[in-house]
Amino acid sequence: MKQQLAPQRLNSERTPGQPRGTMVLKMKPTARVLNGIEIAAQIKAEVAEEAKALAASGITPGLAVVLVGHIAASEIYVRSKVKTCAEMGLWSEMLTPPESVTTDELLQLVAELNGRDEVDGILIQLPLPAHVDTRRLLEAVSPEKDVDGFHPINVGRLQSAASHGIQAGTALAPCTPAGIMEILKRSGIAVAGQHAVVLGRSEIVGKPIAMMLLNASATVTVCHSKTQDIGRHTRDADILVAAIGRPGFVTAEMVKPGATLIDVGINRITDAAEVARFFPGDTTRAAQFATRGSTLVGDIHPAAFDLAGAYTPVPGGVGALTIALLMKNTVAAAKARRGAAQRSEVAAAEA
Ligand code: NAP
Repeated sequence: MKQQLAPQRLNSERTPGQPRGTMVLKMKPTARVLNGIEIAAQIKAEVAEEAKALAASGITPGLAVVLVGHIAASEIYVRSKVKTCAEMGLWSEMLTPPESVTTDELLQLVAELNGRDEVDGILIQLPLPAHVDTRRLLEAVSPEKDVDGFHPINVGRLQSAASHGIQAGTALAPCTPAGIMEILKRSGIAVAGQHAVVLGRSEIVGKPIAMMLLNASATVTVCHSKTQDIGRHTRDADILVAAIGRPGFVTAEMVKPGATLIDVGINRITDAAEVARFFPGDTTRAAQFATRGSTLVGDIHPAAFDLAGAYTPVPGGVGALTIALLMKNTVAAAKARRGAAQRSEVAAAEA
């Protein structure tokens, strides 16, 4: 991968052996920031256009969000999803069963949502209370409405060579990894033939992004908590995706100069000394910390970004894409299910 270079310091002093009159241009890598907020805005604009076109043919894509109990972070995420639906011209419904709801009651709710034609996407906000069988519930969602991409059918479709990620429209892919692929694609970062190293092997991020990168013809290495000498792998990465939930885990020494660094980690730090250690001399962060009492850091140490060819910041990188991809999935689900039904009705009427 090519590294972008920019002049750091013009040094007119001669070094021993250097001909008189020549100047030395010291070069330092300048990392390109992959702005997730801008890319999300592009995707949302496209989704809004598609929703408008669907509305013209009588289909308003609809998302049902199930939020159990009162987890503050989940409530914030869900509100944000519902608000974005309205902005995109999508219809949404929030269902809020109490914390005491049983697995059977939730299965009944999901069955009803599966049966409602106007519902294109069903999202069950995680985590669920410990007494609820999360796996059973996620598997009960109709694969055609599984806009989170967690159903085994969609996981399987993602793995099949035919689907090649989200683009083919055959699989509903998990939103965060799909967002990473959009960042790479829309930023013109080559994936085919590159060595991609993924840190983390969760069902939500690590495994699906590894599969998508493989589908896009990268050579993929997946590291996890049992991997020995992780730096040996990361130092060889052209594209490094860090999704482990460990603040600043990937240090500058673990990164190949010029690599693309995709930081999925969202870690809230509340200790002033830690903020100073991660962001020395960063007055914006210091001010933010002073106001809010916390700030976010990814799984990649900010100092490592200086070495990168390109990187996603935290916040404002990968995290910004997830809701945009949820909207994209909901519209794709509506088109795949209801658009197909509409086409067959037209064909039947014309026959
Ligand atoms: P997770 O389910 O907790 O999985 C963490 C993974 O990291 C596991 O595979 C674990 O390995 C691995 N790991 C943990 N410590 C490690 C270490 N010291 N060395 C190597 N591997 C290690 O987490 P997740 O849901 O994938 O989320 C990861 C991060 O991404 C979190 O910070 C989360 O907040 C963030 N996230 C962001 C978004 C977004 O931007 N919208 C979405 C989802 C997640 P084992 O499998 O061996 O235990």
